[in-house]
Amino acid sequence: LKDERIAGIASAIRVIPDFPKPGIMFQDITTLLLDPKAFKDTIDLFVERYKDKNISVVAGIEARGFIFGPPIALAIGAKFVPMRKPKKLPGEVISEEYSLEYGTDKIEMHVGAVQAGERALVVDDLIATGGTLSAAIRLLERVGVEVVECACVIELPELKGRERLGDKPLFVLVS
Ligand code: AMP
Repeated sequence: LKDERIAGIASAIRVIPDFPKPGIMFQDITTLLLDPKAFKDTIDLFVERYKDKNISVVAGIEARGFIFGPPIALAIGAKFVPMRKPKKLPGEVISEEYSLEYGTDKIEMHVGAVQAGERALVVDDLIATGGTLSAAIRLLERVGVEVVECACVIELPELKGRERLGDKPLFVLVS
């Protein structure tokens, strides 16, 4: 994406080496949130892209998809659906497992939060291996929702997460 706002967004993201463990370059978006112009530009860029796409659901992935998803949902007139780590949602859930470097993890969504035929955007702060986003896509598609696109602030392209999403479009601001 070519836009004069991208440089300001990129420079507001702090990189912390070796967090949470050695070898990981943690992309810290909390510094982006401290910069109202960069934070607003981030939301605006997503809203400009999705406002006329007939999206009725913004699905945000815990935890940082809960920061970027709701302002996008409000601005485009969609509902917000949290996709949570296991055992956090109080109602009946459906869940989807995905593989990590060691072991597996799961995300969950409330039954009845979305209806078959709805059009969804999936939002997270960052795509690394794509495992989390691909599980979110599977979960929504299992209940008949059409996932229009995934949107992240940051992509780590060397981890090839985009490939794991198959032909599902992925939109990122900073790569
Ligand atoms: P993945 O499923 O491998 O695409 O990992 C994506 C999830 O892990 C997102 O929810 C990210 O917030 C988090 N994550 C993975 N790698 C990083 C990183 N280097 N910096 C910040 N968050 C990360």
